[in-house]
Amino acid sequence: MPLRVQKGFRRIKFAFSKHSLWDHPEFVRYLQWLEQTQWWTKQQFEDYQTRQLVALIQHAYDNVPYYKRVFDQSRLKPGDIKSLPDLQKLPILTKDDVRKNLEDLVARNVDRSTLVYRTTSGSTGVPLGIYQDKETSYLRELAYVYRQRRWAGWKLGDPYLVLRGNAPPEEGSEGKPCLHSYNLQNNALFLSSYEMTEDNMFTYWKLIEEFKPKFVHGDSSSMEILSRFLKRNAIKNGTIRAIFLGSQTILPYQRKFIGEAFECPVYSRYGMTEKTTDAVDCEKHRGYHVGMEYGVFELLDQENNPIARTGTPGRVAGTGFDTFCMPLIRYATEDIAEFSPETCDCGRQSTLVTDFKGRLGELIFSKSGYIVPLSPVYASIHGGVMTRLREIKFIQEEPGKLMIRMILAPGSSQREVQEELLSDIYSKLDAREFNVTTDFVDEIPRGGRGKLGLLDQRLPVKLEHLETFGGNP
Ligand SMILES: [Zn+2]
Repeated sequence: MPLRVQKGFRRIKFAFSKHSLWDHPEFVRYLQWLEQTQWWTKQQFEDYQTRQLVALIQHAYDNVPYYKRVFDQSRLKPGDIKSLPDLQKLPILTKDDVRKNLEDLVARNVDRSTLVYRTTSGSTGVPLGIYQDKETSYLRELAYVYRQRRWAGWKLGDPYLVLRGNAPPEEGSEGKPCLHSYNLQNNALFLSSYEMTEDNMFTYWKLIEEFKPKFVHGDSSSMEILSRFLKRNAIKNGTIRAIFLGSQTILPYQRKFIGEAFECPVYSRYGMTEKTTDAVDCEKHRGYHVGMEYGVFELLDQENNPIARTGTPGRVAGTGFDTFCMPLIRYATEDIAEFSPETCDCGRQSTLVTDFKGRLGELIFSKSGYIVPLSPVYASIHGGVMTRLREIKFIQEEPGKLMIRMILAPGSSQREVQEELLSDIYSKLDAREFNVTTDFVDEIPRGGRGKLGLLDQRLPVKLEHLETFGGNP
């Protein structure tokens, strides 16, 4: 059925009803509450977090075998955790701990039929499974998402484009993969991140122009590919008012580049399937506001001690308040961030994080063993030579060696791209420490959930490597 007709039906069907999310009282109640709490003072946040933490700890001790054990082994009682700093008395929880103690982490006083088992792709490639409450946690998560969307003027029911690692669920015709699908109840157009070839991109843009989305929900690598296509072909964005990035590390240059290509604001969100941490940037784009209602956000150094000072990178750890069915307390990730020394001029007093600097797995090793984040290297090639590439991926198998696998954009010369690329890269990387090689291909396989991923780091990157983070020999 042509889109025009489908949209006509949608208009008739939904003319007198609100967006389906409004049918869920939990979503409505929670979103309204979040719209008030965003203006809380630091003291109000602290009081609220302390109350939530004390309740979560008591519940974990009473009902979760894993935590009963952890408390007993550490000779602690729930009453020992009375304030936010007391949380540090408990050990961190690693992904490996979750994998090994999955059943013992589920609360005994929870009806198992209300739970859903979810897996995350994880940066190491080993999937991690967790249990979550089927409905409430999902609806509350959406309330956080919509609080940020409303800062950009997004109203429920506004047409939007989704390009975030999904393969559209529908089967294509004549054995061809399907590039898109519609969810007209939510007024969304889904495009596949798996089929972004140059020919298909023209079809994609035609679909977008026909659908006229006001907003985009995308991942950074797919949106970057689409942005490069717009720039290369001098195509102007007509209807999209703001872009929301999530589900992947978002590098500062990507946000800037996507914003320039679409000539609209770009919002970012840092979150995870495990629901321990939420952080989003507001309409002032001065950093990420930590979701204080969501949980306790910590940064850890290499000894897993909390970092309180600003400007020092550490690993993100979170304690999610909405994880009662399977409490995740001080759940440590591989993601690196640092606290901002500024306060945001939007007036919100929640903790501000400057940026999420990528995962430990997005760091590269020099010949003599010091490490640098890949992002500035990638940013150095971004303005120029990148426009003549369609896709790019860095691969490291040995310290000091970096292979760059690329797909050329149509009409680009391999020799010219190679020369310019290497000259840009060596402006950031010491040639005595890094030997960079190139590999031009027709296709780069996608990783988990259709994510292209910037770096395939085959060397183990450990926490102690943070000591040499960004260091010089
Ligand atoms: Zn702000």
